[in-house]
Parts: sequence; structure tokens; C-alpha cells
Amino acid sequence: MTRHPEDGRLHTILDALCLGPDDAAVRYLIDAFGGEPVEIHERHVGEPAVLSRHLLFESGGEIVLHDDAVSAVILHLTPTPIAPRGLDVSDWIRGIRKNATFDDVKKVFDVPWRFAAGDRYFVLEAGYARPEFVKYRDQRPGNLQRVVFTADDPKDACRPADEDCRACRDLIVREGDGSFDVDGTVGALIAGVEAGFLKEKSGSVALTDLRLLHASALMERVESQVSCSTCDRVACITLYRDSSPTFGYYPYDAAMRRPLQAIPPIEAWGDAARIAAARDAMRYVDHEPGSWFLVAQHDDLYLKSRYTINSMADDSSLIRLDESERRRYREDGHDYLTDLARRISSSSPHRESSPFHLRNLLRHPDDGRDYSEEVSAAIANHTWLARQKQAAAQRMQTEEAADA
Ligand SMILES: [Zn+2]
Repeated sequence: MTRHPEDGRLHTILDALCLGPDDAAVRYLIDAFGGEPVEIHERHVGEPAVLSRHLLFESGGEIVLHDDAVSAVILHLTPTPIAPRGLDVSDWIRGIRKNATFDDVKKVFDVPWRFAAGDRYFVLEAGYARPEFVKYRDQRPGNLQRVVFTADDPKDACRPADEDCRACRDLIVREGDGSFDVDGTVGALIAGVEAGFLKEKSGSVALTDLRLLHASALMERVESQVSCSTCDRVACITLYRDSSPTFGYYPYDAAMRRPLQAIPPIEAWGDAARIAAARDAMRYVDHEPGSWFLVAQHDDLYLKSRYTINSMADDSSLIRLDESERRRYREDGHDYLTDLARRISSSSPHRESSPFHLRNLLRHPDDGRDYSEEVSAAIANHTWLARQKQAAAQRMQTEEAADA
């Protein structure tokens, strides 16, 4: 006979999701965790701010409230400073023991699993269950650390524990009256990038351009995204033409799905210094989907194109067009570059026999420059949409595989 998870106290958890601390189902859960919490951690998260309260129990239970509604319930199996023994998971989810592997958990829940931010999770009728194992060790007994139940789909919402990430939990700067200080927050984000624990995501608006673009009123929404190297959350600060600014944390894939508009030409919104800087940087000129990009810098033109190594692998090369190639491009335009990219690919530029081998600036930079980084920055806004489509296709494949 297949044992059903509801045979345990699982329903006590699921019944409490989304309810307030005074609701009977939540009081019942608090009692089941052993009465009053021994610690309560409170912080404001995001803008508009949500008051997040983590109620920690000596038994190993944890309840997370967002604006007084239960958003997550966590069963800590391994000892923590607050719960020295850890919780006996078999009391809560019948059929799952402390040394359960992912396959054991899968058998008990008996529903398809999905991926979110490196973990697999289960869609239950009244919420989502994410068993968290020691990384990459979910098939060995003894590595199940927690089981996290959430009201929101883990593909859209970050892990509750990440709210306490030391690196990125305090990025929002507020005025004395508690209101959102946009300039202060942008300054904190830039400082984090310079210190190396945050990374600006290519494709989103550069932090230093956020205010200028917003002031131009050319875009309905202007958004910068930075990822945290500690917890992998992506913080998104968004300025709107017609409404108040927002700040939120998202899983990587969810940030990728957020709508980003094409950035208008810099002459339309940049100040003199920014326009001068852009003139010195590589800039996007043209591209052929799946084949090549053309970027320019001062009087030079660079062609980045894909080539095939074998049926399993491909790579990219970057060449600076020589005088005769530039002339042909002036005469024949886009089609000439498609032809040139084809010739580069068929010459196998990774081999020394190719006339393009030594010209590949990605492998043989002529003055020690990191061309890869410069080209990526120049084409980021144009590749964003393509990557969004690719990510969506991959997600569908993964979900189909999980359902199968
Ligand atoms: Zn973080």
C-alpha cells in the first residue's frame, strides 16, 4: 500500500499557509512546534516593503510570516543553535526519515517535481514542498537538511532563508521617515559591485545609467539587476515613468523573465560625459541571428561569429575587419558578413592552418585586452531577448521531462 503523506502532520503545515498568526490553524501549528518561539527575527524586505518575521522554535520548526500571513514553514532536521536536536521529520511527513534521499522523498509525495534555483520541489495541492539537501548529495542518505513548505511557487520566489543573506539583505537605503531612497540605494548597489559581492547583469540597464534613462522619460520602466554571489538572488531596482520605484529579490530565472525594453540610442538621453564614454566603447552595429554580431569602436569594425568544432561543440571567433573586408562590407552590406562568417567557420579557425586562426582576438588578443567582455557589453541588450526565449524553451523541456 502506498503511504500517503497526509497520514502524518503535514496537513497542519499546509492548512496554516497564507493565514494570519491569530487564525486557529496557525495557533495549532505553533502548539505543534512546542508553543512560543524562542527567537523572532524581523526585517523589512523590498520596496514596497514587506514585513518579514521568522518565528524560530526550539523543536526545529520555523514559521515565516510576510505582512502577517504565513508564507513559509520550515522543518529543520539538522541541529541549529536554536534547535539543538533538530526535528524528527517522520513525525511530520510519514514515510520520510532523517536519512531520506531525494528518491525516498519523491516516492512519498508521489507528484511530479520541478526545478527552481538548483533545487527540485514538489507541487502539492495546498502549497509547494522543497526538500533541501547538502548540495549535489541528494542521493546519499543523511544529507537532508530541511524541508521547506511555501505558499508561493519556488520558481517565482526566493528561498526564505536567503532573506537573511549577510551580503545582500541590507541593500535598500531609506530616508529618516522610512521612505525609499533611490539614490542611496543605487549608491549601495554600485558599492557592492565594486566590492565584488554583487554583479551587474548584462542586458539590464547599467546602475550608472538608471537615473539618466529614467529622467529622459523615454522608457516606461527602467530596471537594473544585480546578482548576489553569496545567495544567487537577483535584486531588481525599477524606476517607472508613471509610478513609484520598486525593489525586489528574485530567483535567477525569474529575473530573466522580467520584461526589459530596448535602451534608446545614448544621444537621446546621455549627458556629455556619458556620450563621450560611449563613443570610446564598443557599440553594436548589426547582427544575423544565430551566426554573427558586428560591433564598432572608433574606426574599427569587429565581427564576432560562431563556428563549429564538431557535432558536439561550437565556439566563437572575433576578427577585426581588414581594409578589403571593410570595403566589401561597404559595398555588399549584411550579406557579405554572412558569407564571411561562413568562410571563417568552414576554415576551422581553432586550427593553425586556418587563415583566421591568428586573427581570432578571443584567443590571440593583440594588446592583452579582454575583447570577450567588451563585445558582450556592447551586444548585451540585443542578446537579452534571445536568451529569454532560450530559457523559456529550456524550462518547458525540463518541466516536460519532470512530468514524464
Ligand atoms: Zn545574497
